[in-house]
Amino acid sequence: MTPALGTYALDMCPMCGGQVSRNGVCLSTTCSYEGGMPLEKPKAELQKRLGGSGAELAAMAVVEMIGLALSPFTFMISGVIASGLNAAYMASKDMDDGKLSLSKRFTKRRVVAVDTDLPISNKQAWIRNAPYIGAWAFAMLPDPFGMLGLMLVGLMAVVDVGMIWSDPRGRRLGDRLAGTQVIDET
Ligand SMILES: [Zn+2]
Repeated sequence: MTPALGTYALDMCPMCGGQVSRNGVCLSTTCSYEGGMPLEKPKAELQKRLGGSGAELAAMAVVEMIGLALSPFTFMISGVIASGLNAAYMASKDMDDGKLSLSKRFTKRRVVAVDTDLPISNKQAWIRNAPYIGAWAFAMLPDPFGMLGLMLVGLMAVVDVGMIWSDPRGRRLGDRLAGTQVIDET
């Protein structure tokens, strides 16, 4: 969609001097400037998003607990497989316009690029979930590293809930890294 004349965002970010997209979002990952113009795509509905993502994380926790519970009987391999499955899910869920994302399918949300409003590339899908992919991959290692990986997943989830809640566009850490935003499908 081409914005009407005069609605283009500032070229330069007033906070950091970096580039601002036509949706008014600073493209620098370390800058929080988002005030260039009215939101073209409003923030996804908070309860629906946190509910969907929370259920998804709970499902991954169940997979992890089953793997850990079976560890004594599988020479610890089931715990490694469970963490690996969670890492693989995070790596693939937002690829191909999120067709594998269970929570986004059930709650009718999708991820778009902030600079184009178009569905994200597979590279962006991977980058926005990279912190979680890394933490789940870390959880595959023997303890104490495995336990650290799990703690990292929990810590990032807490940080992301705070960012989703407080950010005007509901962009979490991965959204900033990848230049993406979650929207509701209408
Ligand atoms: Zn900036």
